[in-house]
Amino acid sequence: GAPSILLAMQNPQDILQHVFGYHDFRGQQERIVNAVIEGQDALVLMPTGGGKSLCYQIPALARPGTGIVISPLIALMQDQVTALRELGVRAGFLNSTLAWPDVVDTERALLDGELDLLYIAPERLIQPRTLDLLHQANIALFAIDEAHCVAQWGHDFRADYLRLDLLHNEFPQVPRIALTATADMRTREEIIERLQLEEARQFIVGFDRPNIQYRVQQKDNPRRQLLGFLKDEYPQQAGIVYCLSRKKVEQTAEWLQKEGFNALPYHAGLPGNLRETHQSRFLREDGIIMVATIAFGMGIDKPDVRFVAHLDLPKSIEAYYQETGRAGRDGQPATALLLYGLEDVVKLRQMMGASEGNDQFKRQEQQRLSAMLGLCEVTSCRRQILLRYFGDTLDEPCGNCDTCLTPPQTWDATEAVQKALSCVYRTGQRFGATHIVDVLRGSSNEKVLAQGHDKLSTYGIGQDMSADEWRAVLRQLVAAGYLDVDPEGFGGLQLTESCRPILRGEQRVHLRRDIRTRKPTSTRTAR
Ligand code: ADP
Ligand code: ZN
Repeated sequence: GAPSILLAMQNPQDILQHVFGYHDFRGQQERIVNAVIEGQDALVLMPTGGGKSLCYQIPALARPGTGIVISPLIALMQDQVTALRELGVRAGFLNSTLAWPDVVDTERALLDGELDLLYIAPERLIQPRTLDLLHQANIALFAIDEAHCVAQWGHDFRADYLRLDLLHNEFPQVPRIALTATADMRTREEIIERLQLEEARQFIVGFDRPNIQYRVQQKDNPRRQLLGFLKDEYPQQAGIVYCLSRKKVEQTAEWLQKEGFNALPYHAGLPGNLRETHQSRFLREDGIIMVATIAFGMGIDKPDVRFVAHLDLPKSIEAYYQETGRAGRDGQPATALLLYGLEDVVKLRQMMGASEGNDQFKRQEQQRLSAMLGLCEVTSCRRQILLRYFGDTLDEPCGNCDTCLTPPQTWDATEAVQKALSCVYRTGQRFGATHIVDVLRGSSNEKVLAQGHDKLSTYGIGQDMSADEWRAVLRQLVAAGYLDVDPEGFGGLQLTESCRPILRGEQRVHLRRDIRTRKPTSTRTAR
């Protein structure tokens, strides 16, 4: 091919300006770029939208040879390559969607030194044919994008990624840069171990997204809450509404359409072409609300997503952070709204208890869920808790989350908690929250009478509090681990060891009072 103007340019600052059209590096980009140009390995932990791509694209241009980018996001490769070509970068890709003649062309271009960047799917990379090819080519670097896919501890695990240790073994002289937006310690350690990146420089970049306002509301009437939120604050803007199940995605999208919103469903059960259509409409048109399962979003780069609403509780802080992180990438104010209630806690605890997988896996999942529940129930700044989870710190409360804007009240709930725990115990630790509340409030419904629970000493001892208030108590007890959910039965609540000091009167318990305001009283959008 025609020798590119790029050949003459080796200075990262020149490449940044003249190829990508940006004036300055952002954050740690320059340090990362320089490390890779010098031939060092690097592990880059940077939030989505932080600018990871330039960290390998610029070194690929600055170093002799072709930069090989390994990415699981096949659907995005074509777009990425097209965008690069428009900038004058000689880019190509190899994956299962490419027709045979194009494969041959791309391979030849690589061998002839006519490519600056080549994107390869992991399953393609590990094929002997591809490895042979790479051994014959001049390689500038390997970039392993979405590197957390190598972690079995995480949710995006891909078996093909495990084989990527071959890069180190077969191409020891080629620098590698692994990139991910998932930064918890466990995942980080697994990436380092599996990709043999012990010697790599680590770059952990600010995880704070100051323009996103975090809010967690108790689920009351979720549809009414969502509708109020949209009508008050985002009547015409683009956003994502996450639901746990496919069915709920479809029902919610349909309902929002009836309410006059431009809503589209997205989940893995829809036909591929429909998914693609909805995704590209979301990207290209204004003001579309994508109602989706977590199948939607990986690698989606839409700057003006104004809100992300969760109608169900995410399974971990990593998932919550990643999903909410799709809002406000343009730096403008955005909102992350999570509606969460007792039934979410019970459902997830139970699902995890009953899931396949060994005890260690289940324990890890439960721990991750507990951290997420802690974030939901916290009475101090949510952002501080969120960042601390990733090893990042924020010295002052943020002033842009619901707990900062409307500090929740707490109350000494020791007596109420003792009543609730006794009631769980007296009814035999087999019943779900609804029944426990009925017994506490002295309901004479059929189930209570049939079980003879109207004869118990705890029957009717909680008439001073509403059913909602009791549910809030039980929810917080499950969230804090005082109560367990029976994985076998129908969500029966059970006491755990940690209840003892409370029942013996040796420990007082403070709980938060639920707030059901729709919007924090004052809003500040950035610090
Ligand atoms: P990530 O891969 O970390 O999610 P990207 O590499 O896709 O993020 O970058 C996100 C957005 O930020 C892109 O639109 C990109 O063009 C822009 N960007 C990245 N670096 C810079 C920079 N130094 N100056 C201006 N814009 C940048
Ligand atoms: Zn805060």
